[in-house]
Order: sequence, then C-alpha cells, then structure tokens
Amino acid sequence: MTYQYDLIAIGGGSGGVAGARRAAKHGAKCAVVEFDRLGGTCVNRGCVPKKVMWYGAHIAHTLKDAAGYGFDVQKNGFDWTKLVTDRENYIRRLNGIYEKNLAKENVEFLAGFGSLVDAHTVKVGENTYTTERILLAPGGTPTVPQIPGADLGITSDGFFELTEMPSKVAVVGAGYIAVELAGMLHSLGADVSLVIRREHFLREFDEILSGTLTQIMHDEGLKIINNTELKELKSVSGGINVITQDERDLGEFDQVIWAIGRSPLSEGLNLQNAGVEVDKNGYIPTDKWQSTNVDNIFAIGDVTGREQLTPVAIAAGRRLAERLYAGMTDRHLNYDNIASIVFSHPPMGAVGMTEAQAREKYDDDVKVYKATFTPMYHAFTAHPQKTAMKLVVTGKEEKVVGVHLIGAGVDEMLQGFAVAVKMGATKSDFDDTVAIHPTSSEELVTLV
Ligand SMILES: Cc1cc2nc3c(=O)[nH]c(=O)nc-3n(C[C@H](O)[C@H](O)[C@H](O)COP(=O)(O)OP(=O)(O)OC[C@H]3O[C@@H](n4cnc5c(N)ncnc54)[C@H](O)[C@@H]3O)c2cc1C
Repeated sequence: MTYQYDLIAIGGGSGGVAGARRAAKHGAKCAVVEFDRLGGTCVNRGCVPKKVMWYGAHIAHTLKDAAGYGFDVQKNGFDWTKLVTDRENYIRRLNGIYEKNLAKENVEFLAGFGSLVDAHTVKVGENTYTTERILLAPGGTPTVPQIPGADLGITSDGFFELTEMPSKVAVVGAGYIAVELAGMLHSLGADVSLVIRREHFLREFDEILSGTLTQIMHDEGLKIINNTELKELKSVSGGINVITQDERDLGEFDQVIWAIGRSPLSEGLNLQNAGVEVDKNGYIPTDKWQSTNVDNIFAIGDVTGREQLTPVAIAAGRRLAERLYAGMTDRHLNYDNIASIVFSHPPMGAVGMTEAQAREKYDDDVKVYKATFTPMYHAFTAHPQKTAMKLVVTGKEEKVVGVHLIGAGVDEMLQGFAVAVKMGATKSDFDDTVAIHPTSSEELVTLV
C-alpha cells in the first residue's frame, strides 16, 4: 500500500512541528496540519508572551530597586498597550519563522482543522490525505468551571488579548499559570487577589518554594485568598462580583482570570474512526515509545497528559522521529528529572524529587541541605526578596535526587544543575566544584 505521506502531524505547535521537521530531516515525506497560527500554545498564548510580560514586570521591580543603588528615578507611567503591541508583532515574526522552517525542511503545511477518517487517512477541511503514520499533537485549552456567570471571566488566552491593563483582578487557580499571571499583574501595578481552593498554591513543588513565595507575596501586598471555592460570578455596574461557596462576596473586580487547569484538545479529532483510545479526561495514553493503542498512530505533548511543557513536547517529537526514521531503535524520551521554572517574582524552579517524595520513596535514607539568605543584590533594595535553596540527597553516597531553588536568577541557574542531577551527581561532586563568587549559585556547592 502506498500513501501520500510517511507522517502527518495534527497540530502545528511545539511537538507536532518538532516531530515532523525531524522526521523530514531524515527523509520522511511529512505534513503538519494546523487550524490556527503556527507555533501552538507556547508561541501564541503561552511561554513566549508570558515571558515578555514577565520581563516587563521584572523591569518594574528593577525601577523600584534603583533608588537603593543611588539612582533618582521617576517613573512617568507604564504603557501596557505598547508592550502588548510590540509583543504581538514579535510573535507574528515567530509565526513566519515557523512557516519558513517547515518549508526549509520540505514539510508541507496543511492549513485547517484535522481529523481522522481512519488509521491511515486524515481529513483537513474538505480534503483527505493518506499517510503511513499519524502523529497526534493537538495540545490543550484552558478549563473554565461550570458555575453561573463563569463566562464573565477570561482565561490565560484572554489575558494575552487584553489591550488595557486591568486595575483590579482576581486570578483563580493554584498552578504555575495562576501564580505567574497574578505575579506579573501585581508587579505591573494591578490590585491582585489570588484565589485558591486549598491552603497553599504550587503544591507539587517542595514546600520550601511555595512557602517562601507565599511569604514574599504577603510582604509585597499580593492578596492570597486561600481555602476558597467559588460559586458564582455576577455582572454588576462596576465590574464582576465574585461569590464564594460559603456566600462570601469577595468584592468587585474588573477582570476575573480562570487558571484552574487545562484540558486536552482530543475531542474533535474523530479518534474513534481509527480506534484510538482516550482516558476519562480526554488524554491520549501512550507508552514509552509515544505509541497509542493503534500501531501506526503516536501522540506527544500536552494531549498525553504527561509533563505539560514545551521542551518535553519537542524532545518527545524529535526522539520519536529519530526512532522511526533515523534507525535509532531505542530512542525515546525519559521523563525523569525534567527541570521546570515558575516565572514568579522572584522565579522558582526545581529538578527531581521534593523532600516529601524522596522520604516516601527512600524512608529515612534521605538528607536535606538547605539555605535561606538575602542575596547581595537585595542588600541595597527597599524590598529585599529572600533566596532559598534545598538539595535532597539519598544513600551513603549522598546522590542528589532533588534541587529546589527560589530567588533572583534561579531561572538561569537551574539548567546546569539539572545536567548534574541527570548524570547522577552526588553531594561530594557538588562540594568538589569550586564556587563562582560572588553569586547566589555558589551557595549550592557550599551547603553544609
Ligand atoms: C499561559 C501558559 C504559559 C506557559 N508557559 C510555559 C513555559 O514557560 N515553559 C514551558 O515549557 N511551557 C509553558 N507552557 C506550556 C506549553 O505551552 C505547552 O506545554 C506546549 O505548547 C505543548 O505543546 P504541544 O505541541 O503539545 O501543543 P500546542 O503547543 O498547544 O500545539 C497544539 C497545536 O495544535 C493545534 N490543533 C489542535 N487541534 C487541531 C486539529 N484538530 N487540527 C489542526 N490543528 C489542531 C492547536 O491550534 C495548536 O496550535 C505554558 C502554557 C500556557 C498556557
């Protein structure tokens, strides 16, 4: 049986583009199907616009800190519209680069919504295409709760469409997207309440990180309303009223942002036509080879429900392509020890196990080394933010199984330490590494 393509990827985001390009590089005839702008969530409504806003918020902090270094700075305003316009122009350039990169690699771009006709046929608009293999990479979309008035709120997608800065905002959610949006809006001058269902946010991270960030947010006046579940949003003349399950009225906000999670975009793909299984939440289960239950159909990225990060989708797509088309028969992504950063203010990040996870796995055979200090930069600022670090080690040889960091600069610090953890470094490897002085990162190789 001959097919028009070797591989069709459904989804022109991080995973689909990376997988198809790498397969084409090794000689496969590939196409990418995308109904929206190329680049997916990360480029258009995720990492990229988020980091631009984070940089803006970071500058707001730096302006406040400048007096401590002798600068007499007067801030005359902040032009949200200019920042957003420039950000969107930058993203449009990236969309163009994505399209050029597909062409460079001879990957065809099929614009439109893709769905399965059968295990070897993809429908895009009115056209159908046959293919030996299919790569499912449709990503996900923000979840909105089923409560009265929910559609008065916006999601992270809506946040990136705001052309004016909201002045009073409730951000609802306890994950990294909620924490990041709340942090940048607060830093840029909005009055922000972060509404969380339980006691703490970012519960999947080590408590040293969420605890330190909670304290910093309190000190800086970002309101955290915990143990609170919402019942209803009501439109009122001044904005949106937020009502809790226990009938408290949290007041009037001009924006409510839902950041309560994301759902996979698997529904419209007609997966049943090829017999591809999904779990009860719509995620497509895959094995270590990224295979679905159907032999020639693979899935990568957010739709698989594994670590939902851009480099994970890219790495899974590239490894899959190398296994299928470059003869690397054992190539697959190992999902252990994937580092991640939360772009809060200050940033925080981790690689490996939290202390609690390590104690669960290794019982008493766990030791932690930690430090909390004021970094030199903040010795001169009016609003010093603490830095905190924790190493989790196990065994006689003190193998480092977790690195947890919060503080200025840790976003650029963690990647190198992730290499060390991935290589199986021990505490004595850290200690044998001569420090770089004066930095915050030197603390990590001098912990006692
Ligand atoms: C606010 C926010 C901030 C984030 N920040 C970070 C960060 O700092 N670092 C990080 O690593 N990750 C971040 N992420 C996560 C990251 O964006 C995702 O993990 C990543 O984009 C997943 O890649 P993917 O290929 O699985 O899906 P996507 O990038 O979402 O791509 C899927 C593409 O498929 C298209 N599509 C869907 N269905 C169809 C169909 N039937 N036919 C045709 N096309 C279809 C969609 O339009 C989309 O373009 C962030 C996400 C959000 C929402």
